[in-house]
Amino acid sequence: MSTLAISPNHVVGIAYTLTVADGEVVDFADVATPLLFIHGIGQTIEAFDDKLNGLKVGDTFDFELDAANGYGELDPKLVVDLPKSIFEGEDIPEDVLEIDAVLPLQDSEGNPLDGRVVEIGEDFVKVDLNHPLAGEDLHFKGEILSVREATEEELEHGHVHGEGGHQH
Ligand SMILES: [Zn+2]
Repeated sequence: MSTLAISPNHVVGIAYTLTVADGEVVDFADVATPLLFIHGIGQTIEAFDDKLNGLKVGDTFDFELDAANGYGELDPKLVVDLPKSIFEGEDIPEDVLEIDAVLPLQDSEGNPLDGRVVEIGEDFVKVDLNHPLAGEDLHFKGEILSVREATEEELEHGHVHGEGGHQH
């Protein structure tokens, strides 16, 4: 069994549950299909990486991150009105335009961004670009299942290869 301690540029496998304040489980991974990520490169929340730093296989964790250390506070400036006309092209058929629909959008630099529809007007669509977990206090509970050094190729690609990771 690996005795490596978790530190940046290590591939970490965990089983965990992520619960929000009202008790709803919003994410989880079990022992059969662990969450695999590279520690310390921004694949996960920075404060989450910090909490796991130094843990080893077999260690458990149980901690809370407030919204500011999680996915951030809700930002009212990220609720924006978009002209309805931009949804009338071929990319997004009109029938997906409904309240709570999540639209694949892009920011001004072309990065993918999910927007949740909160209001549909005559000629505008009000979209919430906040992360779905923004404003939520997060409770993580789980166990470290594996720790190994990331390969150079994995660090170059910014993701885990092999079983449970990217296959290519
Ligand atoms: Zn790759």
